[in-house]
Amino acid sequence: MDEKRTELDRLGEFGLIDHLTSKFTTKQASTTLGIGDDAAVIRISDTESMLVSTDFLIEGVHFNLMYMPLKHLGFKAVAVNVSDICAMNGKPEQITVSMAVSSKFPVEALEELYEGIQIACEAYGVDLVGGDTTASYSGLTLSITAIGRAETEKIAYRSGAKENDLLIASGDLGGAYVGLQVLEREKQVFQANPNIQPDLDGHDYIVQRQLKPEARVDIIEYLKELDVVPTSMIDISDGLASEVLHICKASKVGCRLYDEKIPIDGKTSMTAIEFNLDPATCALNGGEDYELLFTISQSDWDKIKGNPHMTPIGHITDVADGAYFVDKNGSAIELRAQGWDHFEQ
Ligand code: ADP
Ligand code: MG
Repeated sequence: MDEKRTELDRLGEFGLIDHLTSKFTTKQASTTLGIGDDAAVIRISDTESMLVSTDFLIEGVHFNLMYMPLKHLGFKAVAVNVSDICAMNGKPEQITVSMAVSSKFPVEALEELYEGIQIACEAYGVDLVGGDTTASYSGLTLSITAIGRAETEKIAYRSGAKENDLLIASGDLGGAYVGLQVLEREKQVFQANPNIQPDLDGHDYIVQRQLKPEARVDIIEYLKELDVVPTSMIDISDGLASEVLHICKASKVGCRLYDEKIPIDGKTSMTAIEFNLDPATCALNGGEDYELLFTISQSDWDKIKGNPHMTPIGHITDVADGAYFVDKNGSAIELRAQGWDHFEQ
């Protein structure tokens, strides 16, 4: 008998999820939305919904303990899950933490990990309510589930963007990727000569963006105060290009994204150039900034205009007009996602 074997990289991460889950349908009346957004949406009352999101962090794939202190890892693991709840315009309330850990870690190391988890729980106001612990043959695996709550009417899906809506990004982009380049460079120097101490001087901001990203709970609160409900939203975990395309695909729209409008911190730009990288490319194709990308209707523009934490970077068009990136010379280039794809490593 011929055994059929299809390699994972034929499908890619999103193709694999689609392939494995496309035959599932949801049957519970309470399941408002299953697979396909930053979090699942489950009805809990006439007006409120529960949001659930889960993410893995695997040593060697998502983090490298040579430069990622365990305390930071604990913080980041919580922040990235809280970020998924924010991306639905929800408020995070609980997390569960599951870990598989090898004997190379002493108790003290795991205490550090949990110190980071606790700092994040306090920062984001979430309760640790459970999890699971098991042995692993190699390294550390963490899986965190975040649970949140939202007013059902105010949930922001990836699928709600409409033609002429404005595309907005929170904070600044590309820093986490450039920070990773700095850490990788210092790792190589250290491996070549362990007596040389890492030189991270002047790179604090971008290294921090990589090691200790913040979930933008504050942006969700701002939007609430300003009485703005985004028409669609996603968090920027895989790079701006990939996330814009997710919104376009789910909303069945096109877009124009403007190079000159992408918010990039001066330190990110300077260091990117040091590495011969184009800063905009770092924002588009790097990842892990954990900022929010959302669309608002033009009628809400006056409410957020001038806010230093939110930058308009483009607008939504008809699907027939395609998804384009307009560079500094005004040339429109078809937008492509070249974000992380773990199966291609
Ligand atoms: P995110 O980037 O927000 O973590 P993913 O791209 O990992 O989202 O996942 C996309 C969607 O697919 C989400 O709704 C997620 O819950 C779902 N998903 C991912 N992996 C699986 C799986 N193995 N089985 C079922 N659903 C999955
Ligand atoms: Mg995921």
